[in-house]
Amino acid sequence: MKDIKIGTINSLILENIKNIYRKISSAAIRSGRNPFDVKLIAVTKTVDIEIIKEAVSFGLRALGESRVQEAQKKIADCRAQCADCDIEWHMIGHLQKNKAKVAVELFDLIQSLDSIELAKELNKHSEKAGKIQRVLIEVKLSEEESKYGIAKESLMDLIEFVSEMKNLKLEGLMTIPPFSDNPEIVRPYFKKLRELRDQAERKGYSLPELSMGMTNDYETAILEGATMVRIGTGIFGERR
Ligand SMILES: *Cc1c(COP(=O)(O)O)cnc(C)c1O
Repeated sequence: MKDIKIGTINSLILENIKNIYRKISSAAIRSGRNPFDVKLIAVTKTVDIEIIKEAVSFGLRALGESRVQEAQKKIADCRAQCADCDIEWHMIGHLQKNKAKVAVELFDLIQSLDSIELAKELNKHSEKAGKIQRVLIEVKLSEEESKYGIAKESLMDLIEFVSEMKNLKLEGLMTIPPFSDNPEIVRPYFKKLRELRDQAERKGYSLPELSMGMTNDYETAILEGATMVRIGTGIFGERR
C-alpha cells in the first residue's frame, strides 16, 4: 500500500465524521426525533492512539473498544494526556467475568452485559470501587453461533435481575445483527430490539437507550429507534 501522509488521513477522518453527522441528523429527523438524541460512538478498536487523539480533537467524545486489554493502554494514555477531555469510554465487545474488575475501572458504559453471572461480578466490583456502573444488556437476536448476548427468551429475567443490583444502572439494550451489506436484511433485528425494549417498559422498566447500527446500517437503525450508533470503519477506514 502507498504511504499516506498524516495530514491526508486526518482530513479524511474529519470528512468522514462530518458526513456521518449529516446522515445521523437526517435519519433522526426522518424518524421524528431530535438529532441530539442519537449519540455517535466512535469504535476505536485497532486504531492507533495518535489517530484517536486526532478524532478527539475533531470533537468525538464517546469511544468504543471491544477488548479490555487493548482498551487499558489507550484509556490510560488518553487520560494521562488529556485529563479534562471528558471522553466517555464504552465497552462494546464480549466481556469475560475475569475481566469484570478491570472493566469497571475503565469503562463509563458497558454495553455487553449478557448473563446473570457477569451482572453479579460487575455489581460486586462496582460496589468495592464505590461506583454506579452504567450498563446495557446485549441481546442475541441472530442464530449465528459466534454472536454473544442473552437469548430473547431469557431477557426479562436478566432485566429483572440487573435492576435489583444496587451498583448497576441499566440504561437500555444493545444488539449486533448478522453481517450484511444490505440494511433491509438487518432492519427486522433493529425492530425486534425496539419491540423487546417496549415490552420491558410496559412492565415498568425504564430502558431509554437502544445501541444498534454500525457503518453499513446505522441510518436504518436510527429509523428503527437507535439512540446510539457504533461506527468504526466509516470513520477510520478498514481495520488492519
Ligand atoms: C467493530 C464493532 C463495531 C463497528 O463496526 P464498523 O462496521 O466498523 O462500523 C460496532 N459494534 C461492535 C460491537 C463492534 O465490535
